[in-house]
Amino acid sequence: MRYSTLLGKTLRQPPSDAETISHQLLVRAGMIAQLGAGVYSMLPLGWRVLRNIERIVREEIDGVGGQEVVMPVLHPRELWQESGRDGKMGGILFRLMDRREREMVLGPTHEEVITTLVRQNVQSYRDLPMTPYQIQTKFRDETRPRAGLIRGREFVMKDAYSFHADQDSLDATYEAMKGAYTRVFERCGLPSVMVEADSGAIGGKGSHEFMLLASSGEDSVLICSSCGYAANGEKAEFVKPAGVTEAERAMSEVHTPGKKTIAELASFLGVEPRQTLKAVFYVADGNMVFVTIRGDLEVNEIKLKNALHATELRLATDLEVTAAKLVAGSASAVGLTGFEVVCDDSVTMGTNFVAGANKPDYHFLNVNYPRDFQANLLLDIALAEAGAKCARCADGRLEVQRGIEVGHIFKLGVTYSEAFGANFTDAEGAERPIIMGCYGIGVSRLVAAAVEQNHDDRGIVWPPAIAPFQVHLCGLNLDNADVAAAAGTLYDGLRAAGIDVLFDDRIESAGVKFNDADLIGIPLRVTVSPRTLAQGGAEVKRRTEREFALVPLDELVAGVQQRLAGS
Ligand code: ATP
Ligand code: MG
Repeated sequence: MRYSTLLGKTLRQPPSDAETISHQLLVRAGMIAQLGAGVYSMLPLGWRVLRNIERIVREEIDGVGGQEVVMPVLHPRELWQESGRDGKMGGILFRLMDRREREMVLGPTHEEVITTLVRQNVQSYRDLPMTPYQIQTKFRDETRPRAGLIRGREFVMKDAYSFHADQDSLDATYEAMKGAYTRVFERCGLPSVMVEADSGAIGGKGSHEFMLLASSGEDSVLICSSCGYAANGEKAEFVKPAGVTEAERAMSEVHTPGKKTIAELASFLGVEPRQTLKAVFYVADGNMVFVTIRGDLEVNEIKLKNALHATELRLATDLEVTAAKLVAGSASAVGLTGFEVVCDDSVTMGTNFVAGANKPDYHFLNVNYPRDFQANLLLDIALAEAGAKCARCADGRLEVQRGIEVGHIFKLGVTYSEAFGANFTDAEGAERPIIMGCYGIGVSRLVAAAVEQNHDDRGIVWPPAIAPFQVHLCGLNLDNADVAAAAGTLYDGLRAAGIDVLFDDRIESAGVKFNDADLIGIPLRVTVSPRTLAQGGAEVKRRTEREFALVPLDELVAGVQQRLAGS
């Protein structure tokens, strides 16, 4: 490809709204272009990266028995009503009307469509297992599209679905997928971490996410340095610190002027945070929920959301709190009626807690569960934080890292087959629902995640396996006929050897060309100029190196091949 004719030019300045490095660099390198919020064109350079990732994904998913299909993007809305997700997905679903006023949905994922498709095609256990998949554009009206390709409203996903006659068969495919996913990221040159993931309110019997560790990641990943346990922060289990346990004393009231936070209260009363109870107010699907957790712990909103089987969960606003006659800073579940009360099990770990007295500037001493307050739900809703004790091994501590979720695998069970009546006849002649798994990879998100992991202060440093081109050929002083001829010969020779070359054939200074080459981040740069020709060759340099080597012109193709093979 000749740079002079390439669609998508490099930019000096990143777009003003681009906060993450991948968004900045992908736009500046001329790889993507924004059309609207969360909607991007893939320009030739970006598209080539995406296609490289797709190729690796295809090979690995085919390798574990996947069969590629393409399903429609346009779905009748009834399908989503049938599964109940029309409501559950809330605002994420893009809905539209056709000319006959039939309601349609733009597919955010394809469990509904694939289950109906398989229902029509599977009769007996002999038709199973099978693993159809597709690589396709998905639509989600995300509340906060951000970071360029990381969270788009239109994005490319590989979604696979597996169908089984029994649990063992699902388990086998699930394990094979874990392997395929690990190899996909490895082959892309993007080391990933597999973590245990939240499987949502519907329960699910197993779910893992694949994370690329990067400081800009949205997800927190907790890793035990001792046993290797790794989990999404949304799901991570940990051992809660012991509480202070003594004989229960009679409750009394204490004046605590202006002490609203746990830290203020604890230091004012000379107790530790773990001897206090914290109250947090949420609104779950429109209803106020009163949450209590020990003062040294924080609420994990995903665990809470699952416990409540809620579709939408958020903190209550100050106005809502006042309207509910709750006293922020002095609230507790003691004597409270008319609210759903959810308690973290830490309220049972310890005695004689300090808790709000439900009037301004007063707290209770010696509050005990269940003597003084009760919960509608009592379970683990606490957030694992750095340094927490690992629940899987005796002595490990959890470390927190940031990660970008690039893949998600999920044992679905029979949720969708039951909703759509996708049954099969087993060996005994009985009709049973097909057991399902689903497996996603964020293909376009990976393009950006790769940049988050692989860049320096000059630009992108593509892992060779997914780079848009393998060689960036810079001709300097191309108005010099000798250079033009030599560069043309090299361009043809490299391409004839099957090497993908981006040829910077512009009349521009060395500085401009080198800056652009560094920004674009192709693994190998070959420079030919009057100076290199005077020495009988061209300069070859890796993107990751500062030093270059002079290679004679007639050895250049071999030299490039050697370096590419070794990189
Ligand atoms: P997230 O928690 O990041 O919103 P999700 O749990 O909704 O992801 P899935 O429905 O499991 O994601 O989709 C499979 C994969 O598709 C994810 O692992 C992620 O890599 C990718 N993905 C999901 N939403 C987006 C998006 N808005 N833009 C780009 N990629 C996405
Ligand atoms: Mg999502």
